[in-house]
Amino acid sequence: MKILVINAGSSSLKYQLYNMNDESVLAKGLVERIGMDSSILTHKPAGKQEVSEVSEILEHITAIRKVLSMLTHEEHGVIASIEEIQAVGHRVVHGGEAFKASALVDDAAKAEIRRLFDLAPLHNPASMMGIKAAETNMPNVPQVVVFDTAFHQTMPEKSYLYAIPRVLYNKYKVRRYGAHGTSHEYVSQAAATFLDKPIEELKIITCHIGNGASVTAVQGGQSVDTSMGMTPLEGLMMGTRSGDLDPAIVPYVMNKEELSVSEVNSMLNKHSGLLAISGVSSDMREITEGMDKGEANATLAFEMYEYRLRKYIGSYAAAMNGVDVLVFTAGVGENSVVLRQKVLEQLTFLGVKLDAELNAIRSGEPRRISAPDSRVEVLVIPTNEELVIARDTHNIVTAANQQ
Ligand code: AMP
Repeated sequence: MKILVINAGSSSLKYQLYNMNDESVLAKGLVERIGMDSSILTHKPAGKQEVSEVSEILEHITAIRKVLSMLTHEEHGVIASIEEIQAVGHRVVHGGEAFKASALVDDAAKAEIRRLFDLAPLHNPASMMGIKAAETNMPNVPQVVVFDTAFHQTMPEKSYLYAIPRVLYNKYKVRRYGAHGTSHEYVSQAAATFLDKPIEELKIITCHIGNGASVTAVQGGQSVDTSMGMTPLEGLMMGTRSGDLDPAIVPYVMNKEELSVSEVNSMLNKHSGLLAISGVSSDMREITEGMDKGEANATLAFEMYEYRLRKYIGSYAAAMNGVDVLVFTAGVGENSVVLRQKVLEQLTFLGVKLDAELNAIRSGEPRRISAPDSRVEVLVIPTNEELVIARDTHNIVTAANQQ
């Protein structure tokens, strides 16, 4: 079965075409600047040259049409006709409490995703545009939605409720939902496979540290707590997000600076984190370069980032009364040797013992970086959210076809 995986943003659309017979990626690419002038389609067919095309793409329907014509293109294509695509899997950021797993797209699912616009006003409308665009271009092809929040739906009440009046949960569903669930699920399962141990017996802490970052406590294969909250703002310090802060700061600053709701949202989501403290960049590569040159603000930004991550790992070890496996993934987690080193050097109280040589190895494969006598297995596992979407889509569509 060939499956097209789509990740639609408000002005972008990422895609990957999978051949599920061997889970290989036949082609992948990205459409950027949808709705602006000079939209760019970058297409990378497996084993062939990458191509870029600049044109006017005003909405997602056209974007998918261009993607489909690229996938079937005489020179750059990888399939003979779009009929070969038997299912489409969509990444959707917010599934609220309604979606505890991936689901087939039908009228009820679409209505529910629309109801959730309120909780994810930037992301879910974009996902919906992707779904509509795929339906328009491939009307008879089954579509599946895979949610960033679904894996965290196993969290107990004590993890997901905030200590605020219960009426806010009852009326507006104000609670912790978490994010990056597809990634936390993938790397926790990959960790168990790598160690050849049943996931039911493991206490795993997964650290998805990219531009956005979150930590999850995975006990027996289920998410029992996660650092992102009702929105992705809570938890770790990130590239441009503040992470945890005293909520009283928000009205205080709004009052002092006469900020609107959208201005304060923008301050906390786009102008905080590494960027705000370093004054230079939200990118960990530039922060570590600055640190190597002895720049005080870059050093402070790194120290705060590392310290906050380490505190979360410690708190999740306490939440689960222990930890067997610690996993690092995503852009920073997979690539920053120095961040992993600094975090792990201060976790010796948990029995963590780093192997500095293994930590310095760069490879795109799952690998162990802890010493043989470390009480906690520490792994680096490249995440693959698209593969989870493709697998879920394959399973759901296969099951539906058998009914
Ligand atoms: P992601 O959101 O998972 O794509 O991660 C993107 C982030 O990973 C970038 O903003 C960088 O901060 C970080 N990153 C990528 N490569 C490296 C590297 N070699 N060292 C440190 N950080 C990196």
